[in-house]
Amino acid sequence: MAKNVYQFVDVERIDPPKKPVDQRRNEFAEIYHPMSDSQAAGQADRCLDCGNPYCEWKCPVHNYIPQWLKLANEGRIFEAAELSHKTNSLPEVCGRVCPQDRLCEGDCTLNDDFGAVTIGSIEKYITDTAFKQGWRPDMSGVEKTDKKVAVIGAGPAGLACADILVRNGVTPVVYDKYPEIGGLLTFGIPAFKLEKEVVQLRREIFTEMGVEFKLNTEVGKDVEFQTLIDQYDAVFLGMGTYKYMRGGFENEDAPGVYEALPYLIANTNRQMGLEQAPSDFIDMKGKKVVVLGGGDTAMDCVRTAVRQGAESVICAYRRDEENMPGSRREVQNAREEGVEFRFNLQPLDVEINDKGEACGVTLVKTQLGDPDSAGRRRPEPIEGSEHILEADAVIIAFGFQPSPANWFADYGIILDEKGRVRAPANGQFAFQTSNPKIFSGGDMVRGSDLVVTAIFEGRQAAEGILDYLKV
Ligand code: FAD
Ligand code: SF4
Repeated sequence: MAKNVYQFVDVERIDPPKKPVDQRRNEFAEIYHPMSDSQAAGQADRCLDCGNPYCEWKCPVHNYIPQWLKLANEGRIFEAAELSHKTNSLPEVCGRVCPQDRLCEGDCTLNDDFGAVTIGSIEKYITDTAFKQGWRPDMSGVEKTDKKVAVIGAGPAGLACADILVRNGVTPVVYDKYPEIGGLLTFGIPAFKLEKEVVQLRREIFTEMGVEFKLNTEVGKDVEFQTLIDQYDAVFLGMGTYKYMRGGFENEDAPGVYEALPYLIANTNRQMGLEQAPSDFIDMKGKKVVVLGGGDTAMDCVRTAVRQGAESVICAYRRDEENMPGSRREVQNAREEGVEFRFNLQPLDVEINDKGEACGVTLVKTQLGDPDSAGRRRPEPIEGSEHILEADAVIIAFGFQPSPANWFADYGIILDEKGRVRAPANGQFAFQTSNPKIFSGGDMVRGSDLVVTAIFEGRQAAEGILDYLKV
């Protein structure tokens, strides 16, 4: 019988059920229940198979979305997982953390009138289910070569690069200064969005596939970059961006003012049992917390503070809600968990008490003016609207700038005017730097961005390396 392509009229979009808010506020665990087999099949069946899959174009790795939705609908999970891995090295991660409303689901033909297909949740369901049922990437046809590539950074870019290399018979040896793989997947994104076990399972699978990991090893400190250049046929740099953007206002260094990432890492370290000393933990229990910023990092901070038992958590952002860079889904989740949002407020100063500790933030109201070079309307302060917001702790989440290593210049690695490594996608070999033996991708090439774009660049760079090595 021919498929009824109008399923979406009768079957509405249903997101996976969330846990009760009281439970969510008290645990560092994912908030969504997994989709059941029948839910996933029913939701996948809503795909119209519209012939021109805008979702696929908008997805940065160009997943074969309609095809694996069809396989999921038919219960052919191993085939769906196999197909999903043809374009994405970490589909279960993207299904959890991609801002789908801005990517695949935002461009789904059904989005405006009927509700987009729940593409992200089904992508997650396919790989989670396949792994549970024992599916593993098929490496039986791989012919091993004698080539070895050093990958610096076990974040999504490095892992994606290693995935393509090992599937083509090249041995990737991945170096990371942290004790676990994942980069910001592990030491940035909190467990309520992505549980740590998901990345740990990937470590096992990559290891089974033949990827070697050298963790707790900082290149430039524990091992010289020159050693890697000497010992490997090529090198991939996927080291991310880690220089914090500062507000440049008074008392920014006062006790009680925290940078977002160290705050999140300290929390993760405690959750994972990696804490060196109890004093490393930054505790918001019982505090009035103000988080400055409106991106994914700010959302992760506010929701972490809620779970630590903060008395109140306010997110102050200088533009309006419409212009917030963070994912709509995560803003909604934060609201449900008790975070208060205050828009159109720009911080001017941190207020301090007699002991020199942070006790508030001076803010000024803003209105949106002309667009900046990126097309986003500039916030303009409204004179006379200055006021103080009381706070025991202020977390600054303004984002990150490139943090190139000081040894890059010694190896002829050229940076652009913003400090990003120059590695063009469409050069002779994709993502090759100005040193022919060295390739790069992810945040350090494009600036702080997304997991899925880092994965795309890592995979493309691996293709560039294979061409360069003539594999
Ligand atoms: P990273 O993930 O930063 O990995 C770089 C790795 O290189 C790290 O493990 C680091 O230890 C290692 N490294 C660096 N220097 C060295 C060295 N000298 N020697 C050895 N190892 C080294 N994106 C989304 O799509 N969805 C989200 O919900 C989301 N939430 C985020 C939340 C937070 C708090 C942050 C900070 C970012 C978030 N992002 C999100 C962005 C996303 O995490 C990044 O864009 C992505 O991780 C970049 O991948 P990468 O591989 O380029 O770098
Ligand atoms: Fe959507 Fe991200 Fe999956 Fe692409 S990788 S289909 S953008 S969730």
